[in-house]
Amino acid sequence: MNAAHLDPDEFRRQGHAVVDWIADYYRHVEEFPVRSAVHPGDIASALPLDPPAGGEGVEALLADLDRIVLPGLTHWQHPSFFAYFPANTSGPAILGDLLSSGLGVQGMVWATSPAATEVETRVMDWLAELLDLPQRFRSGGAGGGVINDTASTAVLTVSVAALHRASHGQARVDGLRGQYTVYCSTEAHSSVAKAVAIAGVGSQQLRLIPTVSPGGPMDVAALAAAMTADHAAGLVPTMVVSAVGTTGTGAVDPTAEIAAVAAQHRAWVHVDAAWAGVAAVAPEYRGLTNAGLELADSYATNPHKWLLTTFDCDALYVADSAALIGAMSQTPEYLRTRQSDAGTVIDYRDWHIQLGRRFRALKLWAVLRHYGSAGLAAHIRTGVSLVDRLLAGLQKDARFTVTHRQLSLVCLHLTTGAGLDADNTATLALMHAINDSGAAYLSHTSVDGRTLLRVAVGTPSTEERHIDALLDAMRAAANNVIPETAATAAAAAHTATDEPAGR
Ligand code: PLP
Repeated sequence: MNAAHLDPDEFRRQGHAVVDWIADYYRHVEEFPVRSAVHPGDIASALPLDPPAGGEGVEALLADLDRIVLPGLTHWQHPSFFAYFPANTSGPAILGDLLSSGLGVQGMVWATSPAATEVETRVMDWLAELLDLPQRFRSGGAGGGVINDTASTAVLTVSVAALHRASHGQARVDGLRGQYTVYCSTEAHSSVAKAVAIAGVGSQQLRLIPTVSPGGPMDVAALAAAMTADHAAGLVPTMVVSAVGTTGTGAVDPTAEIAAVAAQHRAWVHVDAAWAGVAAVAPEYRGLTNAGLELADSYATNPHKWLLTTFDCDALYVADSAALIGAMSQTPEYLRTRQSDAGTVIDYRDWHIQLGRRFRALKLWAVLRHYGSAGLAAHIRTGVSLVDRLLAGLQKDARFTVTHRQLSLVCLHLTTGAGLDADNTATLALMHAINDSGAAYLSHTSVDGRTLLRVAVGTPSTEERHIDALLDAMRAAANNVIPETAATAAAAAHTATDEPAGR
């Protein structure tokens, strides 16, 4: 063996050092500023221009992680990380990922590692059961689940399947000729626009349907009108994306009503529940997250956001895999196997874009087994109750106007003494002050020209004290942006009329 390769004993020694390093990182993660304060180029300039000629031990790598890399990281696992949506990881997920890496198998077709396929099928059925997804998304019938890297890949994949179905298989032969249309609300994630561009539908064929209220759910009457107009113009309404938990405000589109409209055109319905979907592990949220799913063609949620599973892990379910396989399958001689030819096995390479595939199911399996349904539901409930606490604190201060609340997400803006923070500068200044301090990290969105701060809770280590510290930091930053006395009267009048949308 090449002397540079690690023998099992040396691998064990270095592996223990790496696991120790990760454990220490988690012990101390709270001590870091949440957001990295480095400037562009700082990290690159600290790295040697050339790789080493001789080998180095893992100790040198770990030393550089401490010295160079950690200051350049924004700590997504920090308990005061409230930006974007959480990107949960957890001990079981890390170990499951390590095992997958250690096995190093490719599960592209059943025969290249039967266990990789069959564990994934079972784990996806488990997740469907935990989320109480409709039977049509379980394996054993026409449908089933597959793990993708991201929700973006999922929506691109089902776009291609929807085009395949709408074109009766011609799209993959003739290409698209500008006649297919896709629909989502103005609040849908940008991955829909990206999928439409990549799939060749063309951005002019993407219809952004208005919402019934600012940052709210899709206006289904407007959807119906747009689909009817497109059909009358000779176009083919091909797919509607229903968002369950929009990125900006957490709005939930009415999937059942959307599906009823889509059915008139035989259009595919994809439900993008990337963040909110996993809340269904707690039965009390299923009314919110699962309504109408029995009418959807596909559904995606990300255990890598709020379900404790290290990025990347998107769970995509389809009611009927035929369109997916019809659109994706390419079978050169070198990929043929007896089992595939006999049609007795699942070959996940035909369910998504890439050929090679990691054994991602291992980390999800590890998470589901470690936490069990009770532990997963407890994690979701903690995030929601921490936001209850945050909301109670925010509502005591008339300078904060909460506009939206959904599960563990809150959106708000500042209200100044002159009424609304009309040009958004005070709200943005508050966010920058908190983020620059390193004490917490928030992100923002814009709804109808109004800048909203988003506080998304869900990191496993976040406790009540972190919420209280965030409230303190927000009040202190607000003092610098708008004096409390000047704001109180106008803000109080404003918040009294402003009930947050959502749960
Ligand atoms: N859909 C929604 C509703 C999201 O909030 C996000 C990301 O935040 C995505 C899709 C994209 O997720 P991914 O990073 O898995 O592509």
